[in-house]
Amino acid sequence: KPPEDCPADVETLGRGTWTFLHTLSATYPSHATPNQQSDMRAFLMLFAKLYPCWNCAQDFQAWMQKGGNEPRVRGRGEFGTWMCEAHNEVNRKLGKKEFDCRRWEERWRTGWGDGRCD
Ligand code: FAD
Repeated sequence: KPPEDCPADVETLGRGTWTFLHTLSATYPSHATPNQQSDMRAFLMLFAKLYPCWNCAQDFQAWMQKGGNEPRVRGRGEFGTWMCEAHNEVNRKLGKKEFDCRRWEERWRTGWGDGRCD
C-alpha cells in the first residue's frame, strides 16, 4: 500500500469517490425540485466526463448513456438505488461482489441499526 502522501492510485481514488457519491445520494432531498434534478443531471454528466481515471470515465459515461441507465434523480430513494446500480456495474466489471441495493441506505445513510456506525 502506498503511503498517504503519495498520489492517489485508482483504488484510493475510487473508494473516496464512491464515499462522496453515495453520501451525495444519502443527503439528496426525498422529493427534489426541478432545479435540483437538473443540477444533479448536469453534475453527473460532467463528473462522468472529468473523472480522473480515463478508462473508468469512458466506461462509466458509456454505461450512463445506455438505454435504461439514465440517472434517476426525482428523489433520494430512486437516486440512491441508481447510484448503487452504477457502482454494481463497476463491481461486476472488476469481478467484485455485488451489493444488495435494497440496503444502500443502511450502508450510507441510517447505519445498520446494530451500533456499528455510532
Ligand atoms: P469500493 O468499490 O471502492 O466500495 C467502497 C465501499 O462501498 C465498499 O466497501 C462497500 O461497503 C460499498 N459498496 C460496494 N458496492 C456498493 C454498491 N453497489 N452500492 C453501495 N455501496 C457499495 N477501478 C478500476 O480498476 N477500473 C475501473 O474501470 C473503475 N471504474 C470506476 C468508476 C467510477 C465512477 C468510480 C467511482 C470508481 C471506479 N473504479 C474503477 C474504482 C473501483 O470501483 C473501486 O473503488 C476500487 O477498486 C476500490 O474498491 P474497494 O473494494 O475498496 O471498494
